[in-house]
Amino acid sequence: MRRIASLFLVSLCALALVAQTSPKPTIRLELDATDPARNFFHSKLTIPVSPGPLTLAYPEWIPGNHRPSGPVVNMTGLHIEAAGHDIEWRRDPKEMYSIQLQVPAGVNEITVTFDEITNTGVAGGSGPSASENVLDVNWNQVVVYPANANSDDVQVHPSIHLPDGWKFGTALNVANTAGSTIEFQPVSLTTLVDSPLIAGLHYKQIELTGPGESPKHVIDLVGESDAAINMSPNDIAAYKKLVVETGALFSARHYRQYHILLTLSDEVGGRGLEHHESSDNGPGEKALTDPSTHLVNAGLIPHEFTHSWNGKYRRPVGLATRNYQEPMTGDLLWVYEGLTEYLGNVLTARTGLWTPKQYQESLAETAAALDYRAGRSWRSLGDTAVSVQLLRLAPSGWQNWRRSLDYYPEGELIWLEVDTRIRQLTNDQRSLDDFCKAFHGGQSGPPQVVPYNFNDLVRTLNQVVPYDWGTLLNERVNAIQSHAPLGGIEQGGWRLVYNDTPNELMRATEGVAKMANFTYSLGFWVNQESGNFGDVIVGSPAFKAGIGPGMKLIAVNGRKWSSSGLNAALVASRNSKDPVVLVVENAHRFRTYSIDYHDGPRHPHLERVSDKPDLLGEILKSRTAAPVRVSQ
Ligand SMILES: [Zn+2]
Repeated sequence: MRRIASLFLVSLCALALVAQTSPKPTIRLELDATDPARNFFHSKLTIPVSPGPLTLAYPEWIPGNHRPSGPVVNMTGLHIEAAGHDIEWRRDPKEMYSIQLQVPAGVNEITVTFDEITNTGVAGGSGPSASENVLDVNWNQVVVYPANANSDDVQVHPSIHLPDGWKFGTALNVANTAGSTIEFQPVSLTTLVDSPLIAGLHYKQIELTGPGESPKHVIDLVGESDAAINMSPNDIAAYKKLVVETGALFSARHYRQYHILLTLSDEVGGRGLEHHESSDNGPGEKALTDPSTHLVNAGLIPHEFTHSWNGKYRRPVGLATRNYQEPMTGDLLWVYEGLTEYLGNVLTARTGLWTPKQYQESLAETAAALDYRAGRSWRSLGDTAVSVQLLRLAPSGWQNWRRSLDYYPEGELIWLEVDTRIRQLTNDQRSLDDFCKAFHGGQSGPPQVVPYNFNDLVRTLNQVVPYDWGTLLNERVNAIQSHAPLGGIEQGGWRLVYNDTPNELMRATEGVAKMANFTYSLGFWVNQESGNFGDVIVGSPAFKAGIGPGMKLIAVNGRKWSSSGLNAALVASRNSKDPVVLVVENAHRFRTYSIDYHDGPRHPHLERVSDKPDLLGEILKSRTAAPVRVSQ
């Protein structure tokens, strides 16, 4: 026994020695991104291998997407070579993301080349990854790696060839620059996929932290023109304040540096994707210059930045997978996304990107939309989180009946309820800020992942203030509830009301999205330009009259339809016994629908309840002395 034991010990020590002295095999990645106008990235990977069967994996489950969204359909022109000879490859007939091959004897390195078409279905959003003027590289699109490897254990030495004269922003550290080719320091595959790069002809970097301050925070901007990336002094002040406010909220930072990557382009936009040390934000070309687009997107960067703590550092167990082939489970997305939505919007107000009134309008719209979700009668909030793979790409028609990614906005309401409950229980001495310090704080340092489960949440909430948090959260998440959870608004000293006055956030959204929203009156929204019904609320007056999504609005009370004309008809309906009459086209047939409706326009707002303390007002107050606005 002893002899065997001692032999075993020797072999273990030998293994440990090998592990210490052998550098990790490193994949060299050379990315040619010089053809952005045609949305082609050319990828060349040199991969250390051993002779025998090998399976290479193209990343399938993309962090932050929470679903198998890796754009493998766009992987084209694949060739695998060793010592100048082609190696035959086969796709696994059951695993579309797996490429199988046989490494010949004597070969210890293979070259894999392929083109990635980036004009459809990119990870993190939709639409192209590049245009004449900008590009946005999500590295998961341009790599393969040995299947079954842990992404932390795969080293990659990346470089990128950019169009001449283009500048770039990324959280990766530069090793060398030669002309338009930038070589980065080797990183794990985890860090590479977590570190997107944006580049463009029009580029600017804005420092958010002072000289010598650590960690460094910057905004890297690329856009379709110099005008598009011209950030106002007020915005710069607000983002500087965002850095200070997150310090006050979380009391620790889990990154070495942080890059807010901001792409101002309508071709390469419509995305927001979180990472540990950066975030990839694409709010559209006019996000800094058009007031409505600015208002609607004000919460984007605070949301994605918050994810560095909530989602990246603290991550639900089911989303903390070992590589990009292992399926994720989304059951705690009402924390990952819902708490981020809550904190992100609160920070949007604390930094001055929204006024308190604009925050209230946003919250009113969120609460109303969820209260008008007909699908609440059959689907729990928790099921919307688990179903992220199904719901993310679901169409808008019957969305209220299907439900959507409701764990974002309803998570916001739930965490507001938790925040106000903590404040009520402690006479406003403690708040969700204390939970954030306990849950997301800890020791500052480089990125790491600390997974959690439901019980960890409940335990930390009980440390802030004892309460039956498990029952409250379970009910909100797993029970079928016919109405939205409005307890947070009411505990906050406010109530949800509907009146004739347009909601500022909704009006801005209508302009940006080119839609007209009559959800809370007749029960539908329509596309401003086409007149197509985007959704019709099940049980609403329009639904009862027989109207459904996909039909097209032609006329209101005998006149060609317009948003203002329909609004005028609603105002007139109050003092009339006549129905609102809509002419609707459906599959080349026209029909008249009479809607017996007399309640006028209805737009959601928050109204103060004077005999209750204004906890919501307290929540929105800045935690720091940094200025909210600068004089211009
Ligand atoms: Zn998010």
